[in-house]
Amino acid sequence: MSMEQALDFLEEFVRSGRPHLVVTANPEMVMKARTDPLFMEILQRADLVVPDGIGVVWAGAKLGQPFPERIPGIELAEGLLARAAAKGYRIFLLGSAPGVADQAAAKLQERWPGLRVVGTHHGFFQGPEEEQVLERLKELRPDILLAALGVPRQEKWLAAHLAELRIPVAVGVGGSFDVWAGVDKRAPEWLRKLNLEWLYRLVRQPWRIRRMAVLPVFVLTVWKELLFKGR
Ligand code: UDP
Repeated sequence: MSMEQALDFLEEFVRSGRPHLVVTANPEMVMKARTDPLFMEILQRADLVVPDGIGVVWAGAKLGQPFPERIPGIELAEGLLARAAAKGYRIFLLGSAPGVADQAAAKLQERWPGLRVVGTHHGFFQGPEEEQVLERLKELRPDILLAALGVPRQEKWLAAHLAELRIPVAVGVGGSFDVWAGVDKRAPEWLRKLNLEWLYRLVRQPWRIRRMAVLPVFVLTVWKELLFKGR
């Protein structure tokens, strides 16, 4: 589906009041799922999975399931926040280093005055602090929970707790809070247009090379699948 259709779906989820998990998938996540059965099950059972990475869009086209466009997680979240500001949906920001979610909330409220951020919490909670986070979320019952805990922790955490939290839209948004808070930057527009956002991240954060090493394997896996399907 297109970005607009995905946003319509998310609004429908909010209106339904029932819990929904949304995943923005990139090739690293697809490869992780192939060796992590729990993560695979979460991706398969998610209520909506959108192609965040250009590699997933490419694979869809090759394997006969074309996607109309790439839907970067951060842009999906921004589209949702714009609609939330207009409709009064309540947002909770969970994740990133201490202080970052607050800073992100302030920046988002500058951009969309009237945006209702009902709470924030950093993403390095452990043990009893996790119970407090859960209690707060149950008390506040936001309409939308954006979780920036990194992959796959954010998806696993949301999948494990979503039923008890009963939050209509829960999305893992990776490094988005860091970008909104101004701690990190997205690639410039021209690089994004060339589908090279991943390269920009790699140059800024070279430690990503270990995670990105799976990308050639992803390409090979798609080719292998093509061969077997005889396309
Ligand atoms: N993070 C967190 N708790 C953790 C691990 C990571 O809150 O236990 C945050 C981290 O500070 C960053 C985000 O999760 O803001 C992950 O960002 P990254 O760019 O690594 O996203 P990914 O590529 O994993 O989607």
